[in-house]
Amino acid sequence: MFFASRKPPAAASAKTLLLSRRKAPDGVVRRIRQSLVDAFFPPRCAGCERFGEELFCYACAPKLQKIPAPFCACCGAPFDPLAFSAEICAVCRLRPPHYVAARSAFVFEGPMRTAIHDFKYRRFFDDARRLAPLLAREIRGDPTFQKQRFDFLVPVPLHRQRERARGFNQSVLLARALSEQCEIPALEALIRTQKTAPQVGLNAQQRRQNVRGAITVSPQTAPETLRGARVLLVDDVFTTGATMDECAKILRRAQVAEVFALTLARQLAPDEKGFAQMALHEAWI
Ligand SMILES: [Zn+2]
Ligand SMILES: [Zn+2]
Repeated sequence: MFFASRKPPAAASAKTLLLSRRKAPDGVVRRIRQSLVDAFFPPRCAGCERFGEELFCYACAPKLQKIPAPFCACCGAPFDPLAFSAEICAVCRLRPPHYVAARSAFVFEGPMRTAIHDFKYRRFFDDARRLAPLLAREIRGDPTFQKQRFDFLVPVPLHRQRERARGFNQSVLLARALSEQCEIPALEALIRTQKTAPQVGLNAQQRRQNVRGAITVSPQTAPETLRGARVLLVDDVFTTGATMDECAKILRRAQVAEVFALTLARQLAPDEKGFAQMALHEAWI
């Protein structure tokens, strides 16, 4: 069926080329291109593919889960709302990350999980433009992030071989779309020099080992560009934070002043899911 998916792969690869090559199309070109895309591929809900302008339809929007307070001021992990808790979680106190703070727009569940999965694996990459406002809203709405002045948005790198297989790096598309919306330049400052095993199924320590030494500063990035800069790392999903921390470590070594991390979604551990549910319940009573 012609409209079976939000974006068929054939059109997708042509679009990838466009996106990877372009600087920033001027307003008119972008609007014409967008209306052509919309005419042939009418917008659909990113959660259930129901036709409609909204990113998430009336049925999916209420299923999106924010990460409720209280959460760690550093890594953003939900705390037990009934326990006495400090600002920073035990994990961050024991092993302080190289980033100042990490935040995610939503929990990696339900319609958000579907949207990210389709964006990445069904190559619905026009969704980067539709998903980026969620990141922009998180920057404006989070008390820690809203007072920062970021110099660059840096996408989490993908190994070139994996990028070639997928056709694009989802973090690059998100960073570029976010850059257009919040006028912070996107800079592909990092590259992945080693092809690491997929992180799925690994625990936090294994993930840290897996990614160690795999990321470096791109030779195309002049050292003075990063020196003293304030950087916001951008990715789709935050799982244990091992990749984010490795990216932040490399940036800090390159004399970046401060690193922050922002993702569309956060994968919660089972106990964190419980804390989030309890916090929502507490907020209701
Ligand atoms: Zn829907
Ligand atoms: Zn923490």
